[in-house]
Amino acid sequence: MVGAPMRIAIVGTGYVGLVTGAGFAEFGHHVTCVDVDAKRVDMLRRSEMPFHEPGLAELVRRNAAHGRLHFTTQLREAVTGSLAVFIAVGTPSQEDGAADLSYVLEAAREIARVMDGYTVIVTKSTVPVGTADKIRAAVEAETEQPFSVASNPEFLKEGDAINDFLKPARVIVGADDPRAIDLLRDLYRGIMRTTDRIQVMSIRSAELTKYAANAMLATRISFMNELAAFAEVVGADIESIRKGIGSDPRIGSKFLFAGAGFGGSCFGKDLRALGYMARELDVPLQVVTAADRANERQKKTLGERVLRHFGKLEGRRIGIWGLAFKPETDDIREAPALTLIEQLRAAGASVVGYDPVAGPNVRAALGDAIEVVDEPYAAATGADALVLVTEWHELRQPDLARLTDVMRTRVLFDGRNVWPREEARAAGFTYYGIGRS
Ligand code: NAD
Repeated sequence: MVGAPMRIAIVGTGYVGLVTGAGFAEFGHHVTCVDVDAKRVDMLRRSEMPFHEPGLAELVRRNAAHGRLHFTTQLREAVTGSLAVFIAVGTPSQEDGAADLSYVLEAAREIARVMDGYTVIVTKSTVPVGTADKIRAAVEAETEQPFSVASNPEFLKEGDAINDFLKPARVIVGADDPRAIDLLRDLYRGIMRTTDRIQVMSIRSAELTKYAANAMLATRISFMNELAAFAEVVGADIESIRKGIGSDPRIGSKFLFAGAGFGGSCFGKDLRALGYMARELDVPLQVVTAADRANERQKKTLGERVLRHFGKLEGRRIGIWGLAFKPETDDIREAPALTLIEQLRAAGASVVGYDPVAGPNVRAALGDAIEVVDEPYAAATGADALVLVTEWHELRQPDLARLTDVMRTRVLFDGRNVWPREEARAAGFTYYGIGRS
Protein backbone atom coordinates (compact mmCIF):
# COMPACT_ATOMS: atom_id res chain seq x y z
CA MET A 1 0.00 0.00 0.00
CA VAL A 2 1.43 3.37 -1.03
CA GLY A 3 2.75 5.47 1.84
CA ALA A 4 2.02 2.89 4.57
CA PRO A 5 4.72 2.02 7.12
CA MET A 6 6.85 -0.80 5.82
CA ARG A 7 8.74 -3.64 7.42
CA ILE A 8 12.45 -3.51 6.55
CA ALA A 9 15.75 -4.99 7.70
CA ILE A 10 19.21 -3.45 7.96
CA VAL A 11 22.23 -5.75 7.89
CA GLY A 12 25.18 -4.25 9.79
CA THR A 13 24.71 -1.77 12.64
CA GLY A 14 27.80 0.41 12.20
CA TYR A 15 27.69 4.15 11.61
CA VAL A 16 25.65 3.78 8.47
CA GLY A 17 23.42 0.85 9.41
CA LEU A 18 22.46 2.19 12.81
CA VAL A 19 21.72 5.71 11.61
CA THR A 20 19.77 4.34 8.65
CA GLY A 21 17.77 1.96 10.85
CA ALA A 22 16.96 4.59 13.45
CA GLY A 23 16.18 7.12 10.70
CA PHE A 24 13.71 4.86 8.88
CA ALA A 25 12.08 3.98 12.21
CA GLU A 26 11.69 7.70 12.84
CA PHE A 27 9.73 7.91 9.55
CA GLY A 28 7.36 5.32 11.05
CA HIS A 29 8.68 2.15 9.44
CA HIS A 30 9.16 -1.09 11.33
CA VAL A 31 12.91 -1.74 11.31
CA THR A 32 14.96 -4.70 12.45
CA CYS A 33 18.72 -4.17 12.57
CA VAL A 34 20.93 -7.21 12.52
CA ASP A 35 24.62 -7.55 13.29
CA VAL A 36 27.01 -10.48 13.72
CA ASP A 37 28.56 -8.70 16.70
CA ALA A 38 26.51 -10.03 19.64
CA LYS A 39 28.08 -7.58 22.11
CA ARG A 40 27.01 -4.67 19.94
CA VAL A 41 23.47 -6.03 19.63
CA ASP A 42 23.25 -6.47 23.41
CA MET A 43 24.36 -2.89 23.94
CA LEU A 44 21.84 -1.59 21.42
CA ARG A 45 19.05 -3.55 23.08
CA ARG A 46 19.90 -1.60 26.23
CA SER A 47 19.96 1.60 24.12
CA GLU A 48 23.69 1.99 24.72
CA MET A 49 25.48 3.36 21.68
CA PRO A 50 28.57 1.58 20.30
CA PHE A 51 30.01 4.92 19.12
CA HIS A 52 29.55 8.64 19.70
CA GLU A 53 27.10 10.34 17.36
CA PRO A 54 25.15 13.40 18.53
CA GLY A 55 21.42 12.72 18.86
CA LEU A 56 21.66 9.03 17.98
CA ALA A 57 21.04 7.59 21.46
CA GLU A 58 17.83 9.59 21.82
CA LEU A 59 16.61 8.58 18.36
CA VAL A 60 17.31 4.90 19.03
CA ARG A 61 15.75 5.00 22.50
CA ARG A 62 12.58 6.72 21.30
CA ASN A 63 11.98 4.44 18.33
CA ALA A 64 12.81 1.29 20.29
CA ALA A 65 10.35 2.39 22.99
CA HIS A 66 7.65 2.85 20.34
CA GLY A 67 8.32 -0.72 19.15
CA ARG A 68 9.50 0.36 15.69
CA LEU A 69 13.20 -0.46 16.10
CA HIS A 70 14.58 -3.88 17.01
CA PHE A 71 18.05 -5.40 17.23
CA THR A 72 19.01 -9.00 16.68
CA THR A 73 21.87 -11.29 15.72
CA GLN A 74 19.40 -13.55 13.86
CA LEU A 75 19.24 -12.62 10.20
CA ARG A 76 16.16 -14.78 9.61
CA GLU A 77 14.23 -12.87 12.25
CA ALA A 78 15.13 -9.58 10.53
CA VAL A 79 14.57 -10.62 6.92
CA THR A 80 11.36 -12.65 7.27
CA GLY A 81 8.50 -10.50 6.06
CA SER A 82 10.76 -7.55 5.15
CA LEU A 83 10.12 -5.95 1.78
CA ALA A 84 13.50 -4.27 1.65
CA VAL A 85 16.78 -5.43 3.15
CA PHE A 86 19.63 -2.92 3.29
CA ILE A 87 23.23 -4.07 3.31
CA ALA A 88 25.31 -1.67 5.43
CA VAL A 89 28.38 -3.74 6.25
CA GLY A 90 31.98 -2.58 5.81
CA THR A 91 33.90 -2.44 2.51
CA PRO A 92 37.47 -1.97 3.76
CA SER A 93 40.56 -1.44 1.61
CA GLN A 94 42.56 -4.45 0.53
CA GLU A 95 46.31 -4.18 0.19
CA ASP A 96 46.11 -3.22 -3.50
CA GLY A 97 43.50 -0.53 -2.76
CA ALA A 98 40.53 -2.54 -4.05
CA ALA A 99 37.40 -2.53 -1.88
CA ASP A 100 36.97 -5.81 -0.03
CA LEU A 101 33.52 -7.01 -1.07
CA SER A 102 33.55 -10.20 0.96
CA TYR A 103 31.31 -8.83 3.76
CA VAL A 104 28.79 -7.45 1.27
CA LEU A 105 28.61 -10.65 -0.78
CA GLU A 106 28.46 -12.83 2.33
CA ALA A 107 25.59 -10.70 3.65
CA ALA A 108 23.81 -11.03 0.26
CA ARG A 109 24.15 -14.83 0.30
CA GLU A 110 22.88 -15.01 3.88
CA ILE A 111 19.89 -12.81 3.02
CA ALA A 112 19.11 -15.01 0.01
CA ARG A 113 19.04 -18.14 2.17
CA VAL A 114 16.40 -16.77 4.54
CA MET A 115 14.21 -14.45 2.45
CA ASP A 116 10.66 -15.71 2.11
CA GLY A 117 9.11 -13.68 -0.71
CA TYR A 118 9.78 -10.74 -3.05
CA THR A 119 12.59 -8.70 -1.52
CA VAL A 120 14.49 -5.63 -2.65
CA ILE A 121 18.13 -6.02 -1.65
CA VAL A 122 19.60 -2.55 -1.34
CA THR A 123 23.27 -1.67 -0.95
CA LYS A 124 23.90 1.22 1.44
CA SER A 125 27.56 0.29 1.74
CA THR A 126 29.92 2.09 -0.63
CA VAL A 127 30.62 -0.49 -3.32
CA PRO A 128 32.58 -0.55 -6.59
CA VAL A 129 30.73 -0.10 -9.86
CA GLY A 130 29.31 -3.43 -10.93
CA THR A 131 28.79 -4.80 -7.42
CA ALA A 132 25.01 -5.04 -7.92
CA ASP A 133 25.64 -7.59 -10.68
CA LYS A 134 27.78 -9.65 -8.31
CA ILE A 135 25.10 -9.44 -5.63
CA ARG A 136 22.45 -10.54 -8.14
CA ALA A 137 24.53 -13.58 -9.12
CA ALA A 138 25.28 -14.46 -5.49
CA VAL A 139 21.59 -14.27 -4.55
CA GLU A 140 20.40 -16.22 -7.60
CA ALA A 141 22.75 -19.03 -6.65
CA GLU A 142 21.02 -19.37 -3.26
CA THR A 143 17.31 -18.88 -3.81
CA GLU A 144 14.29 -19.28 -6.11
CA GLN A 145 12.52 -16.34 -4.47
CA PRO A 146 11.84 -13.25 -6.61
CA PHE A 147 14.04 -10.24 -5.80
CA SER A 148 15.49 -6.96 -7.10
CA VAL A 149 18.81 -5.35 -6.42
CA ALA A 150 19.09 -1.60 -5.91
CA SER A 151 21.77 0.87 -4.90
CA ASN A 152 21.08 3.58 -2.34
CA PRO A 153 24.47 4.96 -1.31
CA GLU A 154 24.74 6.88 1.93
CA PHE A 155 26.14 10.41 2.14
CA LEU A 156 25.93 11.06 5.89
CA LYS A 157 28.71 12.91 7.69
CA GLU A 158 29.79 11.43 11.00
CA GLY A 159 29.13 14.03 13.69
CA ASP A 160 26.02 15.32 11.88
CA ALA A 161 24.67 12.01 10.66
CA ILE A 162 21.12 12.23 12.00
CA ASN A 163 20.53 15.56 10.35
CA ASP A 164 22.00 14.27 7.09
CA PHE A 165 19.75 11.23 7.13
CA LEU A 166 16.54 12.98 8.16
CA LYS A 167 17.12 16.05 5.96
CA PRO A 168 19.29 14.86 3.09
CA ALA A 169 20.39 17.14 0.26
CA ARG A 170 19.43 14.26 -2.04
CA VAL A 171 18.67 10.57 -1.97
CA ILE A 172 20.30 8.59 -4.75
CA VAL A 173 18.37 5.55 -5.93
CA GLY A 174 20.00 3.29 -8.47
CA ALA A 175 17.53 0.74 -9.79
CA ASP A 176 16.10 -0.61 -13.03
CA ASP A 177 13.03 -2.38 -11.64
CA PRO A 178 10.00 -0.02 -11.32
CA ARG A 179 8.72 -2.01 -8.34
CA ALA A 180 12.00 -1.44 -6.48
CA ILE A 181 11.97 2.27 -7.38
CA ASP A 182 8.40 2.68 -6.08
CA LEU A 183 9.25 0.84 -2.89
CA LEU A 184 12.28 3.05 -2.19
CA ARG A 185 10.25 6.17 -2.96
CA ASP A 186 7.66 5.02 -0.42
CA LEU A 187 10.32 4.34 2.18
CA TYR A 188 11.69 7.86 1.87
CA ARG A 189 8.26 9.51 1.69
CA GLY A 190 8.80 10.91 5.20
CA ILE A 191 11.44 13.35 4.00
CA MET A 192 9.84 14.32 0.71
CA ARG A 193 7.13 16.62 2.01
CA THR A 194 8.43 19.83 0.48
CA THR A 195 10.63 18.78 -2.39
CA ASP A 196 11.30 15.53 -4.15
CA ARG A 197 14.92 14.97 -3.35
CA ILE A 198 15.06 11.48 -4.82
CA GLN A 199 17.26 11.11 -7.87
CA VAL A 200 16.64 7.87 -9.73
CA MET A 201 19.41 6.63 -12.00
CA SER A 202 21.00 3.44 -13.24
CA ILE A 203 22.57 1.21 -10.61
CA ARG A 204 26.07 1.76 -11.97
CA SER A 205 25.61 5.53 -11.94
CA ALA A 206 24.42 5.37 -8.32
CA GLU A 207 27.40 3.25 -7.32
CA LEU A 208 29.76 5.72 -8.97
CA THR A 209 28.00 8.82 -7.62
CA LYS A 210 29.10 7.90 -4.11
CA TYR A 211 32.76 7.58 -5.11
CA ALA A 212 32.53 10.77 -7.16
CA ALA A 213 31.21 12.72 -4.15
CA ASN A 214 33.95 11.55 -1.80
CA ALA A 215 36.65 11.98 -4.43
CA MET A 216 35.53 15.55 -5.14
CA LEU A 217 35.46 16.49 -1.45
CA ALA A 218 38.82 14.86 -0.79
CA THR A 219 40.31 16.58 -3.84
CA ARG A 220 39.24 20.00 -2.58
CA ILE A 221 40.95 19.35 0.73
CA SER A 222 44.13 17.99 -0.83
CA PHE A 223 44.21 20.92 -3.26
CA MET A 224 44.03 23.39 -0.36
CA ASN A 225 46.65 21.49 1.61
CA GLU A 226 49.12 21.53 -1.27
CA LEU A 227 48.36 25.18 -1.91
CA ALA A 228 48.95 25.90 1.80
CA ALA A 229 52.47 24.50 1.57
CA PHE A 230 53.08 26.64 -1.50
CA ALA A 231 51.60 29.74 0.18
CA GLU A 232 53.91 29.30 3.11
CA VAL A 233 56.98 29.18 0.89
CA VAL A 234 56.01 32.25 -1.12
CA GLY A 235 54.98 34.26 1.94
CA ALA A 236 51.20 34.19 1.34
CA ASP A 237 48.46 33.28 3.83
CA ILE A 238 46.20 30.35 2.95
CA GLU A 239 43.41 31.77 5.15
CA SER A 240 43.19 34.91 2.98
CA ILE A 241 43.29 32.76 -0.13
CA ARG A 242 40.56 30.48 1.22
CA LYS A 243 38.25 33.45 1.77
CA GLY A 244 39.28 34.95 -1.55
CA ILE A 245 38.34 31.92 -3.60
CA GLY A 246 35.54 30.63 -1.34
CA SER A 247 33.47 33.77 -2.00
CA ASP A 248 33.36 32.87 -5.70
CA PRO A 249 30.00 31.08 -6.09
CA ARG A 250 31.53 28.77 -8.68
CA ILE A 251 33.89 27.52 -5.97
CA GLY A 252 31.92 27.94 -2.72
CA SER A 253 33.33 28.10 0.78
CA LYS A 254 32.78 24.55 2.04
CA PHE A 255 35.57 21.98 2.26
CA LEU A 256 38.30 24.52 1.61
CA PHE A 257 40.14 24.33 4.92
CA ALA A 258 43.82 23.53 4.88
CA GLY A 259 44.79 21.39 7.85
CA ALA A 260 46.40 18.26 9.17
CA GLY A 261 45.11 16.06 6.33
CA PHE A 262 41.82 14.20 6.17
CA GLY A 263 41.16 10.97 8.00
CA GLY A 264 38.13 8.81 8.62
CA SER A 265 37.08 5.48 7.25
CA CYS A 266 35.82 6.73 3.89
CA PHE A 267 37.85 9.30 1.95
CA GLY A 268 41.14 7.40 1.81
CA LYS A 269 39.48 4.03 1.31
CA ASP A 270 37.18 5.31 -1.43
CA LEU A 271 39.94 7.19 -3.28
CA ARG A 272 42.00 4.02 -3.27
CA ALA A 273 39.07 1.88 -4.44
CA LEU A 274 38.24 4.31 -7.26
CA GLY A 275 41.91 4.48 -8.25
CA TYR A 276 42.03 0.69 -8.31
CA MET A 277 38.95 0.48 -10.56
CA ALA A 278 40.52 3.02 -12.93
CA ARG A 279 43.78 1.09 -13.13
CA GLU A 280 41.95 -2.18 -13.76
CA LEU A 281 40.02 -0.62 -16.62
CA ASP A 282 42.99 1.35 -17.88
CA VAL A 283 41.16 4.67 -17.65
CA PRO A 284 43.30 7.38 -16.06
CA LEU A 285 41.92 9.03 -12.89
CA GLN A 286 45.09 10.89 -12.04
CA VAL A 287 43.44 13.60 -9.95
CA VAL A 288 41.93 10.98 -7.66
CA THR A 289 45.23 9.21 -7.11
CA ALA A 290 47.01 12.52 -6.54
CA ALA A 291 44.44 13.60 -3.93
CA ASP A 292 45.16 10.45 -1.95
CA ARG A 293 48.93 10.77 -2.28
CA ALA A 294 48.85 14.45 -1.29
CA ASN A 295 46.89 13.53 1.80
CA GLU A 296 49.32 10.84 2.91
CA ARG A 297 52.00 13.53 2.66
CA GLN A 298 49.88 16.09 4.52
CA LYS A 299 49.22 13.79 7.46
CA LYS A 300 52.96 13.88 8.16
CA THR A 301 53.22 17.68 8.04
CA LEU A 302 52.55 18.42 11.71
CA GLY A 303 55.00 15.78 12.94
CA GLU A 304 57.71 17.02 10.59
CA ARG A 305 57.18 20.56 11.78
CA VAL A 306 57.53 19.58 15.43
CA LEU A 307 60.70 17.69 14.60
CA ARG A 308 62.11 20.60 12.59
CA HIS A 309 61.43 23.03 15.42
CA PHE A 310 63.11 20.99 18.13
CA GLY A 311 65.78 19.24 16.05
CA LYS A 312 65.61 16.19 18.32
CA LEU A 313 62.68 14.93 20.34
CA GLU A 314 64.30 12.67 22.93
CA GLY A 315 63.22 13.80 26.38
CA ARG A 316 60.54 16.11 24.95
CA ARG A 317 56.92 15.91 25.98
CA ILE A 318 54.38 16.83 23.32
CA GLY A 319 50.71 17.48 24.09
CA ILE A 320 48.00 16.85 21.50
CA TRP A 321 44.54 18.37 21.54
CA GLY A 322 42.01 16.39 19.50
CA LEU A 323 42.48 12.75 18.55
CA ALA A 324 39.29 11.87 16.63
CA PHE A 325 39.53 12.19 12.85
CA LYS A 326 37.18 15.18 13.08
CA PRO A 327 35.07 16.93 15.73
CA GLU A 328 31.81 15.44 17.07
CA THR A 329 32.86 11.83 16.65
CA ASP A 330 34.93 9.29 18.56
CA ASP A 331 35.97 7.62 15.30
CA ILE A 332 39.77 7.41 15.01
CA ARG A 333 39.94 5.39 11.79
CA GLU A 334 42.82 6.80 9.67
CA ALA A 335 42.93 9.85 12.00
CA PRO A 336 45.83 12.29 11.38
CA ALA A 337 46.47 12.25 15.14
CA LEU A 338 47.54 8.60 14.86
CA THR A 339 50.16 9.48 12.22
CA LEU A 340 51.43 12.32 14.41
CA ILE A 341 51.65 10.12 17.50
CA GLU A 342 53.61 7.52 15.56
CA GLN A 343 56.08 10.13 14.25
CA LEU A 344 56.60 11.72 17.65
CA ARG A 345 57.07 8.38 19.37
CA ALA A 346 59.51 7.18 16.69
CA ALA A 347 61.58 10.32 17.30
CA GLY A 348 61.71 9.60 21.04
CA ALA A 349 59.11 12.06 22.40
CA SER A 350 56.58 11.17 25.06
CA VAL A 351 53.08 12.02 23.94
CA VAL A 352 50.05 13.02 25.97
CA GLY A 353 46.69 13.50 24.30
CA TYR A 354 43.24 14.81 25.07
CA ASP A 355 39.99 14.41 23.17
CA PRO A 356 36.45 15.11 24.41
CA VAL A 357 35.23 11.63 23.41
CA ALA A 358 37.84 9.63 21.46
CA GLY A 359 40.24 9.03 24.39
CA PRO A 360 39.02 5.48 25.17
CA ASN A 361 39.32 4.43 21.50
CA VAL A 362 42.89 5.76 21.34
CA ARG A 363 43.75 4.00 24.60
CA ALA A 364 42.31 0.76 23.23
CA ALA A 365 44.17 1.11 19.92
CA LEU A 366 47.57 2.30 21.17
CA GLY A 367 47.81 1.07 24.76
CA ASP A 368 50.57 2.90 26.63
CA ALA A 369 52.17 4.34 23.47
CA ILE A 370 50.39 7.53 24.50
CA GLU A 371 49.16 8.94 27.77
CA VAL A 372 45.52 9.87 27.38
CA VAL A 373 44.16 12.43 29.82
CA ASP A 374 40.63 13.57 30.59
CA GLU A 375 41.18 17.31 30.62
CA PRO A 376 42.81 19.53 27.94
CA TYR A 377 45.19 21.43 30.24
CA ALA A 378 46.46 18.16 31.70
CA ALA A 379 47.71 17.37 28.17
CA ALA A 380 49.58 20.70 28.13
CA THR A 381 51.08 20.34 31.60
CA GLY A 382 54.85 19.97 31.42
CA ALA A 383 54.67 19.89 27.62
CA ASP A 384 57.34 21.38 25.38
CA ALA A 385 54.75 21.97 22.67
CA LEU A 386 51.02 21.71 22.19
CA VAL A 387 49.58 20.54 18.86
CA LEU A 388 45.97 21.07 17.81
CA VAL A 389 44.90 18.26 15.51
CA THR A 390 41.08 18.16 15.80
CA GLU A 391 39.23 21.47 16.07
CA TRP A 392 36.58 20.60 18.66
CA HIS A 393 34.75 23.75 19.76
CA GLU A 394 36.10 23.47 23.30
CA LEU A 395 39.69 23.46 21.95
CA ARG A 396 39.44 26.49 19.68
CA GLN A 397 40.04 29.19 22.27
CA PRO A 398 42.96 28.14 24.47
CA ASP A 399 43.46 29.97 27.74
CA LEU A 400 46.92 31.34 26.92
CA ALA A 401 47.62 32.47 30.50
CA ARG A 402 46.89 28.98 31.74
CA LEU A 403 49.05 27.43 29.04
CA THR A 404 51.87 29.82 30.02
CA ASP A 405 51.61 28.53 33.58
CA VAL A 406 51.53 24.83 32.80
CA MET A 407 53.73 24.34 29.70
CA ARG A 408 57.47 23.79 29.94
CA THR A 409 58.19 25.71 26.75
CA ARG A 410 55.71 27.86 24.89
CA VAL A 411 55.38 26.36 21.41
CA LEU A 412 52.05 25.95 19.62
CA PHE A 413 51.33 24.01 16.42
CA ASP A 414 47.89 24.94 15.20
CA GLY A 415 46.95 22.20 12.73
CA ARG A 416 43.63 23.87 11.90
CA ASN A 417 44.46 27.60 11.81
CA VAL A 418 41.88 28.38 14.49
CA TRP A 419 43.98 29.53 17.44
CA PRO A 420 44.50 33.30 17.90
CA ARG A 421 47.91 33.68 16.26
CA GLU A 422 48.62 37.33 17.16
CA GLU A 423 47.51 36.93 20.77
CA ALA A 424 49.60 33.80 21.12
CA ARG A 425 52.69 35.55 19.80
CA ALA A 426 52.03 38.59 22.02
CA ALA A 427 51.88 36.20 25.00
CA GLY A 428 55.34 34.89 24.16
CA PHE A 429 54.40 31.71 22.31
CA THR A 430 56.08 30.47 19.17
CA TYR A 431 53.13 29.84 16.87
CA TYR A 432 53.02 27.67 13.75
CA GLY A 433 49.92 27.39 11.57
CA ILE A 434 49.33 25.66 8.25
CA GLY A 435 50.02 27.65 5.10
CA ARG A 436 50.82 30.94 6.83
CA SER A 437 53.78 32.38 8.62
P1 NAD B 1 31.20 -0.19 10.43
O1 NAD B 1 32.47 -0.93 10.37
O2 NAD B 1 31.00 0.89 11.45
O3 NAD B 1 29.98 -1.20 10.56
C1 NAD B 1 29.82 -2.40 9.86
C2 NAD B 1 28.99 -3.34 10.71
O4 NAD B 1 28.61 -4.47 9.93
C3 NAD B 1 29.74 -3.91 11.92
O5 NAD B 1 29.00 -3.67 13.10
C4 NAD B 1 29.87 -5.41 11.61
O6 NAD B 1 29.84 -6.22 12.77
C5 NAD B 1 28.65 -5.63 10.74
N1 NAD B 1 28.69 -6.81 9.86
C6 NAD B 1 29.70 -7.26 9.07
N2 NAD B 1 29.33 -8.37 8.39
C7 NAD B 1 28.04 -8.64 8.74
C8 NAD B 1 27.09 -9.63 8.38
N3 NAD B 1 27.37 -10.59 7.47
N4 NAD B 1 25.88 -9.60 8.96
C9 NAD B 1 25.57 -8.63 9.86
N5 NAD B 1 26.42 -7.67 10.24
C10 NAD B 1 27.64 -7.65 9.70
O7 NAD B 1 31.02 0.44 8.96
P2 NAD B 1 30.38 1.85 8.54
O8 NAD B 1 31.32 2.96 8.88
O9 NAD B 1 28.96 1.93 8.99
O10 NAD B 1 30.42 1.69 6.95
C11 NAD B 1 29.60 0.75 6.28
C12 NAD B 1 29.60 1.07 4.80
O11 NAD B 1 29.03 2.36 4.58
C13 NAD B 1 31.00 1.13 4.17
O12 NAD B 1 30.91 0.65 2.85
C14 NAD B 1 31.32 2.61 4.16
O13 NAD B 1 32.21 2.98 3.13
C15 NAD B 1 29.94 3.22 3.89
N6 NAD B 1 29.76 4.58 4.39
C16 NAD B 1 30.26 4.95 5.61
C17 NAD B 1 30.05 6.24 6.08
C18 NAD B 1 30.60 6.68 7.42
O14 NAD B 1 30.62 7.88 7.65
N7 NAD B 1 31.05 5.79 8.28
C19 NAD B 1 29.32 7.16 5.29
C20 NAD B 1 28.80 6.74 4.08
C21 NAD B 1 29.02 5.44 3.62
